[in-house]
Amino acid sequence: MAAEKNELMEKIVSLCKRRGFVFPSSEIYGGFAAVYDFGPYGVELAKNIREAWWKYMVQLREDIVGLDAAIFMHPKVWEASGHVGGFSDPLAECKECHTRVRVDHLLEEAVVAADEKMSETAINQLFSLNKERIVCPKCGKKNFTEAKSFNLLVQSNLGNFTGNLGENPVYLRGETCQGIYVNYKNVLDSVRVKMPFGIAQIGKAFRNEITARQFIFRTREFEQMEMQYFTRPEAEMDEYEKLRAYRFQFYLDMGMKAEHLRWHKHENLVFYAKEAYDIEYQFPFGFKELEGVHARGDYDLTQHAKFSGVALDYLDPITNEKYIPHIIESSVGVGRMFLAFLTEAYTEEALEGGDTRVVLKLPKKLAPVKVAVFPLMKNKPELVAKAKEVFDSLKGNMMCEFDDNGNVGKRYRRQDEIGTPYCVTVDFDTIGQGEDKTLENTVTVRDRDTMQQERVKIEELSVYLQKYFN
Ligand SMILES: [Zn+2]
Repeated sequence: MAAEKNELMEKIVSLCKRRGFVFPSSEIYGGFAAVYDFGPYGVELAKNIREAWWKYMVQLREDIVGLDAAIFMHPKVWEASGHVGGFSDPLAECKECHTRVRVDHLLEEAVVAADEKMSETAINQLFSLNKERIVCPKCGKKNFTEAKSFNLLVQSNLGNFTGNLGENPVYLRGETCQGIYVNYKNVLDSVRVKMPFGIAQIGKAFRNEITARQFIFRTREFEQMEMQYFTRPEAEMDEYEKLRAYRFQFYLDMGMKAEHLRWHKHENLVFYAKEAYDIEYQFPFGFKELEGVHARGDYDLTQHAKFSGVALDYLDPITNEKYIPHIIESSVGVGRMFLAFLTEAYTEEALEGGDTRVVLKLPKKLAPVKVAVFPLMKNKPELVAKAKEVFDSLKGNMMCEFDDNGNVGKRYRRQDEIGTPYCVTVDFDTIGQGEDKTLENTVTVRDRDTMQQERVKIEELSVYLQKYFN
């Protein structure tokens, strides 16, 4: 089973490279660890994922507004949030081969419940208790140093011209939600929101992960989609249950199979958290966190009020009640969702004649290219001209691709591999040079999933296709 699963992962990584979804960063220089670039189709898929999330979290919600805070923030933000003091991973080094390892991950793999939120002492106790079961992933020996906490924040010299980073370096944000907390009052004072309400944001975040693994699952530069929901203290857990249900439904609505998703409850909560669940997805390497849905209490605004000296309580305009809002959050990475949708979509089908077809059965609205347009033959100018005309008539409404390379069978196969839902072919009937004159000004529309073909009038084509993407 494990071998089969890893094989799937290898196939997905290979397809991502071969078909222009994901490239290793700076590859001509040998790559740059744990950083990846989205290629021409990857950037489309990622954009469509962001748009689907935004629609669900902002457009469809009268109680949620958007925000785009800068990556750089005042250094005090990260003190207030606890990241300077406590945002760390427990690391140890193999004394034999000097490989650095995440102790919590090794413990987990040895089926010992552990996570990065445990104290250094607690993690070292577990580590030493289980040292016979924990082997170095590189050399296989069992000889490690003690675990030490290593801070995950990435530092920069922005605005610092002294040549050293000093005591208060400027950080690249370790999470996007801090930009939401520090703008809570601005939003409240500038737009008409009233409790309970949410602020959503999509943006880059950076973490000095030591073990970046599993392709785009865990990367040092990544993009988060987060929504922070502000509530009355008493309403927090009710709203939390509503948000959990809403977020789970998102994946079902996007076509994921329920059996590929599950809830995982955090056993070791950070001290301020009320409750924390993750939505886990069955990646090729097993069930892993896709999205976190957490109830954070009043910790975030309390901390920022304390460190900034600015009052952040909410005054209810009707009851005159005054309180620090409690926060529940939903947080998911674009890259992680990207990998989950690719895993869900990747399909191999046996065809007649012994061939295998690789097809990405992505939800249609997420597909990088919606429609591919082909002339039946490349060397017939009338076919090419007509196909261009059809392509031009569609490209204003949806992402289209024109392809006249190779035979039509090969073009279908290529579009299947990038998940294009519809292929439109212009043939001799289209231009009135075929047997059946009634087919003039019609084209063949081929469906990705069923491979069925339909004849559609060119003048009706745009409307015909658009109904599948709304
Ligand atoms: Zn080793």
